Amino acid sequence: MNAFQLNYLHAMGIQPWQSKQPAPSIIDTPLQENLTALRAAVARCTACTLHKTRTQTVFGTGNPQADLMLIGEAPGFYEDKKGEPFVGRAGQLLNAMLQAIGLDRHTVYIANILKCRPPNNRDPLPEEVSQCTGFLTKQIELIQPKLLLALGRIAGHYLLDTQTSLSQMRGKLHSYGSQATPLIVTYHPAYLLRNPRDKNKAFQDLQLAHRSLNLTITPSTRLE
Ligand code: SF4
Repeated sequence: MNAFQLNYLHAMGIQPWQSKQPAPSIIDTPLQENLTALRAAVARCTACTLHKTRTQTVFGTGNPQADLMLIGEAPGFYEDKKGEPFVGRAGQLLNAMLQAIGLDRHTVYIANILKCRPPNNRDPLPEEVSQCTGFLTKQIELIQPKLLLALGRIAGHYLLDTQTSLSQMRGKLHSYGSQATPLIVTYHPAYLLRNPRDKNKAFQDLQLAHRSLNLTITPSTRLE
């Protein structure tokens, strides 16, 4: 976090989160090598038809030793162009959501279920999800986050292996996988752009994430 960001958070009355872990630049070599190898495997992947229409794969971004890992659905138009998850307007809102709990996108890790963009941003097909999710499983294994935050219905459905509605999934602590990693489901930022009245519920989910990560948050913090 640079001096400007620190001053901004201070002015907002937000206590910046202090990582108990080393900065990304000094992460351990095997982790970095494993992630680099996995990224290369994703870039070569032609397991489903989405490889034919992608500009590039979108692997993930952030701190490989993050406590919090965010998982979305699939790259969109801008993500496909840039090769990074959650850019564009939805990405800007996600950044604001992270700032509301004293984080920024460089201190967390962000990935998607699918690594290639579905045409016209349609929902992922079941066969695409089953072909691709081995990569995400490996990413979670390597990063070992303390908390997973699923962004949107599709991420929640996959990670919880359920078809229940988002309103039933959000607002509570679940667990994921054999390590029983704590998991919270909240709205996808793109949905919140279309339905701003649900930002308050998303903020409640972030407060739950904050409590789960034992972070510091001020009552005045709001998502705008
Ligand atoms: Fe491979 Fe996943 Fe891309 Fe399909 S979406 S080609 S499985 S990386």
